[in-house]
Formats: sequence, C-alpha cells, structure tokens
Amino acid sequence: MVNIPNIHQQPIQIIAKAAQKLGYPTYLIGGYVRDLHLRRACKDIDIVCVGSGIHLAKTAVRGFRQASKVSVFRNFGTAMFRAGDLEFEFVGARKESYQRHSRKPIVEDGTLEDDQNRRDFTINALAISLNAEDFGKLVDPFNGLSDLKNRIIRTPLDPDITFSDDPLRMMRAIRFATQLNFHIEDETFEAIARNKDRIKIISAERITTELNKIILAKNPSIGFKLLFKTGLLQLIFPEMARLQGVDIVNNIGHKDNFYHTLQVLDNLCATSDDLWLRWGAILHDIAKPPTKRFEEGIGWTFYGHEVVGARMVPRIFRRFKLPMGDQMKFVQKMVALHLRPISLTSENITDSAIRRLLFDAGDDIDDLMLLCQADITSKNEAKVKRFLRNYEIVKQKLKEVEEKDRLRNWQPPISGEIIMETFAIQPSRTVGIIKTAIREAILDGDIPNEYDAAYAFMLEKGKELGL
Ligand code: ATP
Repeated sequence: MVNIPNIHQQPIQIIAKAAQKLGYPTYLIGGYVRDLHLRRACKDIDIVCVGSGIHLAKTAVRGFRQASKVSVFRNFGTAMFRAGDLEFEFVGARKESYQRHSRKPIVEDGTLEDDQNRRDFTINALAISLNAEDFGKLVDPFNGLSDLKNRIIRTPLDPDITFSDDPLRMMRAIRFATQLNFHIEDETFEAIARNKDRIKIISAERITTELNKIILAKNPSIGFKLLFKTGLLQLIFPEMARLQGVDIVNNIGHKDNFYHTLQVLDNLCATSDDLWLRWGAILHDIAKPPTKRFEEGIGWTFYGHEVVGARMVPRIFRRFKLPMGDQMKFVQKMVALHLRPISLTSENITDSAIRRLLFDAGDDIDDLMLLCQADITSKNEAKVKRFLRNYEIVKQKLKEVEEKDRLRNWQPPISGEIIMETFAIQPSRTVGIIKTAIREAILDGDIPNEYDAAYAFMLEKGKELGL
C-alpha cells in the first residue's frame, strides 16, 4: 500500500468516489506516483481510468468546493482542472500503435495494462489503485519500484521500438537521468544511440522544452554528456558538439572546450537559476572552434571568439525556436562581454576601464560577473589564484565606481536634442560625433558625469567643428 500525503488525500478521495459512481477502474499514474516515491514535490496529478477520462473529470469536479472549469482536449481524449495549487489530468486507458513516419500514434481504448505499456519508462509506468477493493495498491508490472530504488531509467518494452515509435522519449530519458541523477540502463542507452537519427521527426519546440529542462537541472553537464555520448547532441546542437576535442601541435594542446563549457555551466548553476544566464554559459565559448589558430611562438589562440560567438547566437536561438527578443539579446551580450572583467589586469583596472565595463553591461553587470566567476576553471592553481584575485579587485572597483558615478543604465547628460538646439542644426552625423565625444570624455574621466561640465565640453567640441 502506498501512503498518499495528507494534503492530497481529500481531493484524491473525491476523484475515487466519482470513479466508483461511474464504475470506472481508476488509478493514479505517471510522474505523480514516481515523485511520491522519490519524495519530490509534485503538483500535477495524472489519473487514468478504464472509461472516459473526460466524463470522469466532469463528474469529479462537481465534488470540489473550489476548482477551475474542466478543460477538455478532445483530440487527445483528455481533460483537466485545477483545484488549489494542484492540477488534475484525466485520461481514459488506451492502447497505442505507431507508424514509422510519425510520432502520432493510432489510439484505441485499452486496459490499464495497455496504458502502462505505452508509458516511456518503468519509473513512469507505476500506478496506484483508487478502487474500493484495493485502494492504495501499487500496480507495478515492470519492476518500476526497483528501478526507482536503484536509480535506473529503463523502457518497459523493447527500447528500440519505444524510441523509434516516439523519438522524443530519447530526450526525455536523458532529461530524467539529469534531473533525478539516475543511470540510463545499458540496453536503453544503446538503443538511444542506435535510434538517434529518428530525432529528426521531432519538432524543434519539443526538443527545446526537454533541453531547457536539462539546462535547469542542478548539474546540466550530466545531460549534455549523455547527449554527446549517444550522438544526439551532434544532431540537435552541432556547434556545441564541435567544442569537444583537443588538437596538439608541437606538443602543445589546448583545453577541451566542451568539458570546459560544461564545467562553467555547472559552476554557474551553483550561483544562478536563470535559464538565460545558463544559456550564456553554454554559448560563451561557442566560437572557439571556428576561431582556433596555432601561432608559432604563441600557441593556440581564439582571437575574437567572443565577437564571432555573439554573432552565432541569433542563428542558434532561431533554430531552437527560443525567444528572439530581450532574452536572445541578453545571451548575446553575455557572450560578447564574457572576457572583459577577467581580462582586466592589475595595471589596467583603472576607473575608466571599469566605467566602460559598467556602461557596456548596464543592468546585466551582476550576471556577467557570475558568468566570469564560473568561467575560472583552469587546472593551473597559480592561474586560478591570479584570476580570482583579479576578479575580486574588479568586483570591488565596480562597487566603488558605481557608487560614485551611477553608470548602470546611464545616459549621458547631454541629449541629441540639446545638441541640435544649441547649434541650430538638423539631425546629422555631426550630432552623433558630438554625442560620442561627450560620452567618451565622461567614460575616460576627462570630465565629470554632470550636466554643466558636459555642456561646456559640448560648446568646446562645437567650436572645434566650426559650428
Ligand atoms: P515532469 O512533470 O517532470 O515533466 P512527468 O513524468 O509528469 O514529469 P509528463 O510529461 O507530465 O512528465 O508526463 C506524464 C506521464 O505521461 C509520464 O510520467 C509518462 O508516464 C507519460 N508520458 C509522457 N510523455 C510520454 C511519451 N513521450 N511517451 C510515453 N509516455 C509518456
């Protein structure tokens, strides 16, 4: 018998009563049952009945004092409603069969067993009876409980068929392995590698949903390593797969940028939950392969990889159907600026260098600093020490300069309109030249960040330009 948590007892009893009234054998199933055993909080409660899921949802909702309306998804034969912070999803038990070219199955009514057979992994196929005669009994035809205990991801049926039928399940296997820190059982793993090409029938949106769940896990590196080892990464994200590997010339190698990137990503995950900053970590060195050169007397260089990398971001975002607005621009900015804080050395951590960094990063400076801190991964202890010391100095200086000059989201005190009015000129290149000169003078510390000083400087500049 499985103990259902107290706070879920009452709503589940209401659903059980409704099912008994309709004469439908009914079960809790899927993620909820899995998470119950893992003691993970789960607010999505999936219910399967031998009968009409839609009818059961409509009957059950009447027993709730407060619940949302029932949403019906006729195409899928499912229905759901919300009550408090719980979401109940109902489906009639079904049997699925697949055709080769599509991940849309042919669906027929079926038994509980048929329904468990169509589930992706043994740990997701566990069911708990809500029927009067054996309420709370675990129905576990594939030893899902033992796989949960041994932390194993395994398909209930032949994995080649499971993955070929619905290749999204390959991404889901890796996603669960990452989120739960589970091992993908060998047969299942090998079947992913064998069926990887089938991923091509899955839409970018669905792939991205799974990828983002991997990225939001505690240690996303687990997922990326599995994606790489199975060969899926090479298909869905070739730019990232290309980071892997080390070239050696004259006995000089460089670090493996794939494993470095994963280290940076995991480091960052300890300090930030932000999906987009995590994407920044994934992409920060993305242009290292295309900018890589071996230069005699210098060694390996990746000149301009931050600029080329920033240019690669829109294409990658578009392909993954990620949002092309502020989020993409933020990631681009992180990639473009990721070398800036650390490249400041003790000699050039001047106020003006710091002002420029603040001006360029704006409100995103704190995120940029988190990324830079995560990027310090060298094996060379002396180097790590030097970088960390530098990082602390930059951080301290940023604080001082920010307090003094308040440069975050800064706009120079003289606008284009003032320039045009003062010299009675139309919008033109000259306005831009004067505006830039004022901004540069302030950032360089030649004049203070104040209106009067900037105004005087503008008049002077105007004179120089013959206005
Ligand atoms: P999470 O809420 O973390 O995504 P979940 O297991 O609840 O985990 P859902 O996508 O909500 O994931 O799916 C609910 C259940 O439906 C799963 O536990 C599984 O039994 C089944 N399922 C979902 N997607 C598939 C699929 N592609 N193939 C087979 N079964 C699936």
